Amino acid sequence: MKLKSIIATALLLAGTFAVAAQTRVVAHRGFWDAPGASQNSIRSLIKADSIGCWGSEFDVWMSLDGTLFVNHDATINGVEIQSSRARDVKVQRLSNGEYIPTLKQYLQAGTKLKTQLVLELKEHRDVHHEAKAVKKILKMVKKMGLEKRMTYITFSLPALIELIKGVPAGTEVYYLDGDLSPAKLKHLKAAGLDYSLRTMKRHFDWFEEAKREGVKVNVWTVNEEDDMRWCIENGADFITTNAPLRLQQLLTAP
Ligand code: MG
Repeated sequence: MKLKSIIATALLLAGTFAVAAQTRVVAHRGFWDAPGASQNSIRSLIKADSIGCWGSEFDVWMSLDGTLFVNHDATINGVEIQSSRARDVKVQRLSNGEYIPTLKQYLQAGTKLKTQLVLELKEHRDVHHEAKAVKKILKMVKKMGLEKRMTYITFSLPALIELIKGVPAGTEVYYLDGDLSPAKLKHLKAAGLDYSLRTMKRHFDWFEEAKREGVKVNVWTVNEEDDMRWCIENGADFITTNAPLRLQQLLTAP
């Protein structure tokens, strides 16, 4: 290979790495601030994909009788998901008029899209119920051929451990609760930390520690430009935001 082409290849590779190292945009509960969408609706997932978000986050609860639903709060229209039967949950509507999606419906919509599916398993009261939810989720994802499209996040330490045990090699699982250092998360074989902006401001050194330990950093929920800049400058791998368009603009600005 001639020197010129070696240099050209090296430059191309350097460029590729520079792109790969750029902060990625995760739409928090989908891109819900879009016409006709609402938080955690299938429409918000489609909208996040349509603007080219790297990932779209959503929250998962399991009903008493084992159906997985996508919703942020523990309750929907006064019906608590984890202690209710699926038939009483599935008739509830979101604010945009959609029925609350089951995880199956949500993932089915995801199969037609490109965005990474960032699944947050909510912390359930009963740890056994939660472990059952992990098993059901992983089985469903595998059956739908979505294993490579998934990222998992959770506040629950038991669920984190179950997820890490159950996911195929290469699937990333992140911890949300903010109380474990990057070194401790590496020890647990988590992909990294997915912590609030407030936590990262308090533990500023965790950006460096994460790099040293080879784990990744996601920060939530970052909506203001100054805070987005702060995360980007500190090398955040992902930012989860309610304002994905603003963040995309910031990342592509010269
Ligand atoms: Mg969430």
